Amino acid sequence: MKKRLTEKISGSLMQEDAPMAKFTSFRAGGCADLLVQPQNIKELQDVLQVLQEEGCPHMVLGNGSNVLVKDGGYRGVIVKLGSGFDHVTVEGNVIRCGSGALLSAVAKAAADAGLTGMECLSGIPGSIGGAVFMNAGAYGGEIKDVLRKVSVISQDGAHLSELDTGSLDLGYRHSILQQTGDIVLEAEFMLQPGNETEIKEKMAELKARRNEKQPVNYPSAGSFFKRPEGYFAGKLVQDADLKGVSVGGAEVSQLHSGFLINKGGATATDIIQLMRIVQAAVMERFGVMLEPEVRIIGEE
Ligand SMILES: Cc1cc2nc3c(=O)[nH]c(=O)nc-3n(C[C@H](O)[C@H](O)[C@H](O)COP(=O)(O)OP(=O)(O)OC[C@H]3O[C@@H](n4cnc5c(N)ncnc54)[C@H](O)[C@@H]3O)c2cc1C
Repeated sequence: MKKRLTEKISGSLMQEDAPMAKFTSFRAGGCADLLVQPQNIKELQDVLQVLQEEGCPHMVLGNGSNVLVKDGGYRGVIVKLGSGFDHVTVEGNVIRCGSGALLSAVAKAAADAGLTGMECLSGIPGSIGGAVFMNAGAYGGEIKDVLRKVSVISQDGAHLSELDTGSLDLGYRHSILQQTGDIVLEAEFMLQPGNETEIKEKMAELKARRNEKQPVNYPSAGSFFKRPEGYFAGKLVQDADLKGVSVGGAEVSQLHSGFLINKGGATATDIIQLMRIVQAAVMERFGVMLEPEVRIIGEE
């Protein structure tokens, strides 16, 4: 298969036994059999078609800020979108960007153009593709509020199509992409004219709030658990007296109990064991099952 892939994409854009700790914000976990970085839509399409014909499992990776790869690694191919997916253009009130562009870069481009609507998303450390997949959100706003449409390619590389916001079924940390496996190529956002200085002040204020309330100096994947209906995950964890509880190098953050952090040298197994301890304790105390928001993949 690797030989077939080298006919489609430069060998320098492929890495065998790729350490996923390097590509994910938890800085933990095993290796992927192969990581490929297509630089444009044509290369991505070619790669997906080869993987489909070979029956090879694969997963697209954005900025790796919501993925944990188990220590046994990922048996298959991780497709990380290359620099050809990073473009951002502003035209009037509309922003078009590649799915590999970071939310922070898109929000900055919006602010520079005096467009409001993305301030609340600007501190989320994900790519546009990952943010649409997760319907990422913060401080009362989510991608859904500003997204107009996306272009996608099917998992097998066979079909290109456009989906408007309505057909993405965006809900709390959910999009239809989690069922279809379609890969986002580009996204279009509709914003409103605003005051550049005020927009930048708002972004700075939200950044300061994050730095104060979240353990930003430690590797993590943000809030580890989804918000259960009627509760806040972090509050449940705190009320179950789990703040500071650790397994190996993994710890329930002292600063924000919704975060599991890598204090240094954590393995994915440490993190997953800690997750289970937290889930069991919260279930016992409050009868609530905490579901991970983080996508956990790979082998034990
Ligand atoms: C410090 C910190 C703070 C965070 N704060 C927030 C927050 O406030 N709000 C919030 O919602 N999240 C937050 N997160 C979580 C994370 O940043 C978001 O979920 C983000 O949207 C993930 O984007 P990503 O590019 O890193 O995706 P990845 O982690 O790379 O991937 C996540 C999922 O998206 C899929 N995916 C990635 N790219 C594509 C694509 N092009 N097409 C289709 N599927 C794709 C992957 O296959 C995977 O299943 C935080 C994380 C950290 C580390």
